Amino acid sequence: MRGPTHFEIRACALALLVYGLAVPLVPAGTAPPAIPVAAPVVAPDVVPAAEAAGSGPPAAVDERPSPVPRVVYEVVDAPALARTVALTFDDGPDPRWTPQVLDLLARHGAVATFCLLGENAARHPDLVADIVDAGMRLCDHSRTHELDPAAPQDGLAHDELVELAGTGVEWFRAPRGEWSRAVQVAVGAAGMRPLGWSVDSRDWTRPGTGAIVRQVQQHVHPGAVVLLHDGGGPREQTVEALEELLPWLAAQCYSTAFPDGR
Ligand SMILES: [Zn+2]
Repeated sequence: MRGPTHFEIRACALALLVYGLAVPLVPAGTAPPAIPVAAPVVAPDVVPAAEAAGSGPPAAVDERPSPVPRVVYEVVDAPALARTVALTFDDGPDPRWTPQVLDLLARHGAVATFCLLGENAARHPDLVADIVDAGMRLCDHSRTHELDPAAPQDGLAHDELVELAGTGVEWFRAPRGEWSRAVQVAVGAAGMRPLGWSVDSRDWTRPGTGAIVRQVQQHVHPGAVVLLHDGGGPREQTVEALEELLPWLAAQCYSTAFPDGR
């Protein structure tokens, strides 16, 4: 594992100094300061081509108000100068990996959003409680990692998750990122917002810890929503990568937040 270099520490300190002229510093993991922002980072309106299969023409073509909630790929309303990143963990909860991820997040004062499968949550309600008690947020990732295109609403785990967690679940992430108008409409009707990602760690390919670390380091940017996994298979590479990435992100002046920027 490589610690931050002197250059990175100096760069971070300089960035904070400049940034601090406009924004009071807050400890990592707390809500960002509520300040007027001249040029807020806005979630992209256009569905990326890779994600747009089956969703018809790009949303940006149609300027009329739409009942179809847009997929959020970047942290919403992140202050323009803040280096905010939203970590997301999919396919859990898993009794082996979720506690390790929670432990690492706690040790580094970081927050994350957990995109749970309803069937896993029902099997491990204690882990759902642990995630909520740790101050993390929940996202519905469907009941079984499958959605019936003709009746996607039947595959949503929202109501079970709310019941299990005793808290609201405001995000939904489509299995494999396969969005469609019908899925987005169902998600909106259930009171949730569609959550995509802008940085795929590719940890699901199990490419080795170093490759996961490099993938995130090369693609992370202010406002990034990062896709990681704490379930769905062996995740020791993800856990090991997180051990390196959390201090690295802090050294780059990144603070973690939820996708809504809070
Ligand atoms: Zn998944």
